[in-house]
Amino acid sequence: MSFVSYHCHSTWSDGRTGIAEMIAGAAAAGLLEFGLSDHFVLTPYDDSNAHEWSMPRNGRALTDCLADLRAAAVDAPLPVRRGVEADYFPETWRQLQTVLASLDLDYIIASVHAVERFPVDTSASDWQPLSQAEVDQLYRGYWQRVRELAECRLGDIVGHLDLPKKFGFYPAADLSREIAAALDAIAAAGMTVELNTAGWDKPCAAPYPDADLLRQVHQRHIPVMINADAHRPAELVRHYGRAAELLRRVGFTEMRAFNKRQPRELPIPG
Ligand SMILES: [Zn+2]
Ligand SMILES: [Zn+2]
Repeated sequence: MSFVSYHCHSTWSDGRTGIAEMIAGAAAAGLLEFGLSDHFVLTPYDDSNAHEWSMPRNGRALTDCLADLRAAAVDAPLPVRRGVEADYFPETWRQLQTVLASLDLDYIIASVHAVERFPVDTSASDWQPLSQAEVDQLYRGYWQRVRELAECRLGDIVGHLDLPKKFGFYPAADLSREIAAALDAIAAAGMTVELNTAGWDKPCAAPYPDADLLRQVHQRHIPVMINADAHRPAELVRHYGRAAELLRRVGFTEMRAFNKRQPRELPIPG
């Protein structure tokens, strides 16, 4: 299979299995390369829920995770890339960037999971009490943060673009200006957008980002890749066939892989 799976979590953060099981699953799925990207979040909020799902709030160190990954890679039957999924917060991104720059990483996925104290992807019950105006405001804040994440080029890959739609709460306001500004910033930063297939298994029943957004990504010549946001081996290549078909339909012919933060292009099979 001519694919990579780089957006993967293990028990170092909120994944369900250890690194060895994920690597074995990647080999069994016939992947070209496996990459681990456990959560690393420096939240400015003491009351955030990040201790449940992310290093270092869960008491684990990213350097220990990467050492474990390096050891597991020695006898691995496929190339193992070292990554991280890091959260953008306007208050902590400089500190985060310093930490990340000191590490020997193959790629960084930069994500927005929270707008201020509101965790956008934790539970539908967080969204249910909101008015439509509040939903609109959260989306506005989300796209503003994606724009800022790109302006400081926090990473190589933008994680699950349009994540707030996860539970099926959508904006009523026209946010096309905010979205265009975020995508322009991503293009200017030379960042890659992942087609994250996990959304197909969520209430929104659509990938992050969906076909409409992917067309806007394509218009700006922003490179793409396919990732599964796998939290267990069975999810490593979920919906990869339809993801490749969607990318081709939008007009993409190539997808990216990374080694020591340097991108290379792979043909999209099919
Ligand atoms: Zn994420
Ligand atoms: Zn993730």
